[in-house]
Amino acid sequence: MATKPYDLDTLAVRAGQERSQFGEHAEALYLTSSFVFKDAAQAAARFSGAEEGNVYARFSNPTVTTFQQRLAALEGAEGCIATASGMAAILATVMALLKAGDHIVASRSIFGATQQLFGNIFTRFGVATSFVEATNTDAYRAAMTPATKLVFIETPSNPLTEVIDIAAVAAVAHAGGALLAVDNCFCTPVLQRPLELGADLVIHSATKYLDGQGRVLGGAVCANKALTEEVFKFLRTAGPTLSPFNAWVILKGMETLKIRMQAQSASALDLAQRLEAHPQVARVFYPGLPSHPQHALAMRQQKSGGAIVSFEVKGGRAEAWRVVDSCSLLSITANLGDTKTTITHPASTTHGRISAEARAAAGISEGLLRIAVGLESVDDIEADLKNGLG
Ligand SMILES: *Cc1c(COP(=O)(O)O)cnc(C)c1O
Repeated sequence: MATKPYDLDTLAVRAGQERSQFGEHAEALYLTSSFVFKDAAQAAARFSGAEEGNVYARFSNPTVTTFQQRLAALEGAEGCIATASGMAAILATVMALLKAGDHIVASRSIFGATQQLFGNIFTRFGVATSFVEATNTDAYRAAMTPATKLVFIETPSNPLTEVIDIAAVAAVAHAGGALLAVDNCFCTPVLQRPLELGADLVIHSATKYLDGQGRVLGGAVCANKALTEEVFKFLRTAGPTLSPFNAWVILKGMETLKIRMQAQSASALDLAQRLEAHPQVARVFYPGLPSHPQHALAMRQQKSGGAIVSFEVKGGRAEAWRVVDSCSLLSITANLGDTKTTITHPASTTHGRISAEARAAAGISEGLLRIAVGLESVDDIEADLKNGLG
């Protein structure tokens, strides 16, 4: 694998590619569910693991392997295991590394489905989660028990863009004998590399910025070899692996990841500044703004503020919905990370299944809107939002 001294820009378009005998320039897409062996002895050797190589696409596929190597290179990880979705990556991590009786400490403002998985599903299998205030390092320390095996954070958080000090939380996790997993979906390795800051595992929803064009679902877990080996053992048996077609689509998306992240982040900062000046906007949540409570930390930990801007419309749900309903350009969808700008009302969609109390505790108000800034002109995005803001 070409991980040597190449820059990230180079790795994003080159890492992990192994050409076939046909000498294709673009990555090959291997749509095959199984692989043939030259004789019975090779079949036996492949199955026993004595010989490396592909057996069955639930275990490995060359196109998926290229994706894994490319993302590992970008994250600076020893290994990467691709999964069918971001949620499958989180599921596989916990199922592979924890057992009944173990405990998770998670930041309170995490992706809605992650909160459901931890709060309602893992509890049925004897794994409990304590949710803590995202930006308070002492809260993580206080929640640790001798049974805590995993600390799980998402930074910047969804949808409030709270920024968590990865190095500080890593120190707390390690002092308690636990691993730190960071959901790096919002920043991608272009803006933030959690493993360099002390995290043990990086989780991705490749559905978002890695593909970047809203086409397919995918996910990944990046970590050292020992941890990815455990995740792989679960995944190859349980089944939520990445399809080769999706891996190929995401690989093509990753070639433009850096320039997309840079352009979309620059537009997000511009939009955040304009929204902050608007009289109908009560508050803007964007790590790149000096008004953001963790602005200094964000500028240290990330290369930019990222491309997600949330803001609170003065009033409540009715006023926020009016902004959504007045949009003719922005897509009303829960997805994010696309080149097309999207608008979401978290309280009634992505975070709608969380109890009103939990939502309030996480600071997700009825007037909150989340914008995932794409590649359109900022003037057009602003004009679309102004229709409903009045
Ligand atoms: C979308 C998302 C997920 C889940 O990913 P899927 O690919 O939809 O399963 C996890 N974490 C964050 C931060 C996300 O935005």
